[in-house]
Amino acid sequence: MRTAKLLRSRILAPGVRELTFDPGPDFEFEAGQWISCRIPATYGEDLARSYSLASAPRADGTFDLAVTRVDEGPGSTYLHSLDLGAEVTISRAQGFFTMDEFERPAIMIATGTGISPFRAMLQALDAQGAFPYPVCLLLGVRTEKDILYGDEFEALARQRNLDFSVTLSQPSQWSGRRGYVQTHLPELVGRFQGQCDVYICGLSKMVKDVRRILKEELGLTKHQIHSERYD
Ligand SMILES: Cc1cc2nc3c(=O)[nH]c(=O)nc-3n(C[C@H](O)[C@H](O)[C@H](O)COP(=O)(O)OP(=O)(O)OC[C@H]3O[C@@H](n4cnc5c(N)ncnc54)[C@H](O)[C@@H]3O)c2cc1C
Repeated sequence: MRTAKLLRSRILAPGVRELTFDPGPDFEFEAGQWISCRIPATYGEDLARSYSLASAPRADGTFDLAVTRVDEGPGSTYLHSLDLGAEVTISRAQGFFTMDEFERPAIMIATGTGISPFRAMLQALDAQGAFPYPVCLLLGVRTEKDILYGDEFEALARQRNLDFSVTLSQPSQWSGRRGYVQTHLPELVGRFQGQCDVYICGLSKMVKDVRRILKEELGLTKHQIHSERYD
């Protein structure tokens, strides 16, 4: 365990705060990994909550988290209430939701702050130069206001072999994709005739459903499907 100091923060969308921490020297991680944060308890024992690192490793050692505020949730409320300069106790980076091999096209499916590990992976890929294979990133959120890092991904899509799209489950005026991320899987997987890896991140219900569709309806093998669940 070590402490990380909150350097900066900004609101990304209603109820979503990005926090940039300085964890001090020699904090190592791979894009796609997560940390556990100690949440001081009001009563009784402290809690622990996990958060995906939302940035690739940087020269200055800092990293970002993107945290959705959950009503009456102790962890997210604590992180939303921190003042700049506050120190948080964090674990080392953990997890295996990393892009170890990039040997065929990749589809990334996220809902809400499930986008975090993909932002880290795409920043890491971008730092290596041109993408060797196409990447499709699909973000599912409720409304246009809830889109996370949209400008960044659009800018990256102009530079690299990245197709970035958003699907809204409660759209008003919106000419883009509509409905849940599940709706768009046949079209995305069909682009590559199933010869792709699919990475999925978000709440369990979505992750389970996407995995089921990929396997049972679209014929992907479990080796092609990689996922991280937030609950
Ligand atoms: C590996 C891993 C990585 C994670 N990374 C992130 C991250 O980058 N950003 C993030 O905001 N959360 C992330 N989470 C979820 C996080 O650990 C907490 O569960 C979340 O902040 C809620 O904790 P809480 O104490 O505020 O609420 P609790 O009272 O513990 O409420 C838990 C409930 O909150 C809901 N919930 C959890 N996460 C979210 C979410 N992101 N959006 C909407 N509802 C949610 C679930 O329904 C869950 O049952 C991650 C979880 C895991 C296991």
